[in-house]
Amino acid sequence: MSAEPTLARIAKEVAVCTKCALHESRKRAVAGEGPADAEIMFIGEGPGFHEDEQGRPFVGASGKFLDQLLAQAELNRSDVFIANVVKCRPPGNRDPQADELAACGEYLEAQIQAVNPSIIVTLGRFSMGRFIPGAKITAVHGQMHKVGERFVIPMFHPAAALHQAALKPSILADFARLPEQLDEARKSLGRKTVEKKRASPKPEKPKQLSLF
Ligand code: SF4
Repeated sequence: MSAEPTLARIAKEVAVCTKCALHESRKRAVAGEGPADAEIMFIGEGPGFHEDEQGRPFVGASGKFLDQLLAQAELNRSDVFIANVVKCRPPGNRDPQADELAACGEYLEAQIQAVNPSIIVTLGRFSMGRFIPGAKITAVHGQMHKVGERFVIPMFHPAAALHQAALKPSILADFARLPEQLDEARKSLGRKTVEKKRASPKPEKPKQLSLF
C-alpha cells in the first residue's frame, strides 16, 4: 500500500480510537498532517486545548512559534509531516502516561514507516525518549543521531521555549541548522532531494535594506 492511503487509513482509525483512556475526554483526536513524502517529520507530545478543538497539530501559540521556526529553516508546514506521540489530549495538558504512550505508539510507528522521513525532529522529552532513551535534552539538542534507517534530532518543545526565554536562542539555533543537516542526511542515506509543488510558496528571506 502506498503512503497516502496508509496515512488516510491511520487518520480514520485514530478518529474513532478507544484504545486508551484519553479518548474519554478528547473532543477531536489529532492524527497529524503533512505530505506523505516529507523528508522531515516533527513529533511532539500530544494535542493541547486548541489542537483538541480543531483536530490539527500545533495550531495554538506553540504552533505559531513552530511556523516561525520552520520559516527560519526555509521550510513551510506544507513541506513537513507533523505528529504527536499521543493523538488525544491528556486532560489539563498533563504528561502522557506509559500505558497511553504504548497504546498510541503503533499509530506513530505506522506513520513513520509510511512517510519514511530522512530526519525525525523530536519536540519534547516523551518524543525524544522514544528514539534516544535516557538522553538529556540539554546535552543532545540539535545533534543528529542515526537511529535505524534515519536520523533523529532532538529539540526543545516550542511551548517550553515560549515559557522559558533562556531556551529560545537554543531552539532558534537548532532550527537554523536543519537545512544543512538535511543535506547531510540525504548524502549519508543516499537519498535525493524531494522536489514537489507545495500548496504554499517558500517563505521569503528578509530583504536587506539598502542605504542608498
Ligand atoms: S491517545 Fe492514541 S491510543 Fe489513546 S485513544 Fe487516542 S488515538 Fe487511541
